[in-house]
Amino acid sequence: MDFKLNEEQIMLKEMICHFVENEVIPTAREIERQREFPAEFIKKMSELGLMGMSIPQEYGGSKTDSLSILIVIEELARAMPSLGVIFSVHSSLFCYSISKFGSEEQKRTYLPQAAKGKILGAFSLSEPEAGSDALALKTTFVKEGDQYILNGLKSWVTTGNNADAFIIFAKPKSDLATKKLSAFIVLKDTPGLKISKVEDKMGLHSSMTSEIILEDCKIPANQILGAEGQGTKIAFHCLDYSRIGISAQSLGIARSCMEEALKFSKQRQAFGQNISSFQAIQFKLADMATLLDASRLLTYRAADLFDQGKSCTKEAAMAKLFSSEAANKIAYEALQIHGGYGYSKEFFIEQLYRDARVLSIYEGTSEIQRIVISRQLLR
Ligand SMILES: Cc1cc2nc3c(=O)[nH]c(=O)nc-3n(C[C@H](O)[C@H](O)[C@H](O)COP(=O)(O)OP(=O)(O)OC[C@H]3O[C@@H](n4cnc5c(N)ncnc54)[C@H](O)[C@@H]3O)c2cc1C
Repeated sequence: MDFKLNEEQIMLKEMICHFVENEVIPTAREIERQREFPAEFIKKMSELGLMGMSIPQEYGGSKTDSLSILIVIEELARAMPSLGVIFSVHSSLFCYSISKFGSEEQKRTYLPQAAKGKILGAFSLSEPEAGSDALALKTTFVKEGDQYILNGLKSWVTTGNNADAFIIFAKPKSDLATKKLSAFIVLKDTPGLKISKVEDKMGLHSSMTSEIILEDCKIPANQILGAEGQGTKIAFHCLDYSRIGISAQSLGIARSCMEEALKFSKQRQAFGQNISSFQAIQFKLADMATLLDASRLLTYRAADLFDQGKSCTKEAAMAKLFSSEAANKIAYEALQIHGGYGYSKEFFIEQLYRDARVLSIYEGTSEIQRIVISRQLLR
């Protein structure tokens, strides 16, 4: 494995760093504090061609390798974790799943709009009683003539109330015991689809997470993604991919925590010296940097396997498990280094600490990643 960035990736990194430094960082924390959706940033990202990074050129995108997408997610998450997850869900779950499993007609209809940021995508698998056990979901579909009718309650939809289209997973009404889900592309203004509530979350305040009610929601039959019963395969394949994206989000948040801790430790004085001169602080910084580098290696390895078209279920789960837990440890220690100031909203670390917490929960909890890894080992 060669993890040196190539020329295109270096240029992309410079471009995204420039965007983040000049356009995101100056206002991100205030937007987050106001719990506003970062619409202006998304618009600018669309102009820069970032929203189509998992869409082939023939459908208006700027398809790149996974590492390039990870570079973007990491940089966005470093400055504004909410923006990182909005981008990650749009690219790795919505656009990627249509690019990979969509019909020619679906690709031509949705992808060019998604690449321009005119369609912002969401991915709706979870339900109030089906999170880790996603195959226990209860949303149903019935086929009637040339349409499908969906009914159910979906929860925890990232970008829910700001999304223009959703990939929604359901089961046939006649067979709720089946493990074979089906996936549908549903536009936000479809009659029968209603955003019922926006979660009042601990962090990621600019990434709204919503509940969706489907009440006799009728969609044309050609909006099924793949074939009936193929949804489980679609969900699991796309989650392998997007878990690497959450690892990159973990890298971004962890890196920001490191930077804040380093900066603070070199400025804060105690007992007549900078706290960075204490070995106890130095050891924390050393452990944080080691965790961060190990996270990066696992993340890049999974992406490398994915790009080679090899199975990366185990490696993606390892990357997500390790990086998300590491980001939480790093956030904890970075806040500790800030002492009482870390507990104040005046300091960025307070937000990063809250935003890091969800990393080991969404797109499969750490416990579920361990199940995925051990299943692969014991196969
Ligand atoms: C901010 C946010 C955004 C999200 N965005 C999306 C989204 O865009 N789309 C979407 O579909 N979902 C989304 N989710 C849902 C997320 O994927 C689920 O919350 C997650 O999978 C866990 O499910 P749960 O919350 O129902 O917890 P549960 O499944 O009820 O788990 C509760 C606890 O039990 C543990 N547990 C469960 N089963 C086992 C087991 N077999 N062995 C050991 N431990 C177990 C879990 O690890 C966890 O600690 C989001 C969640 C959050 C918080």
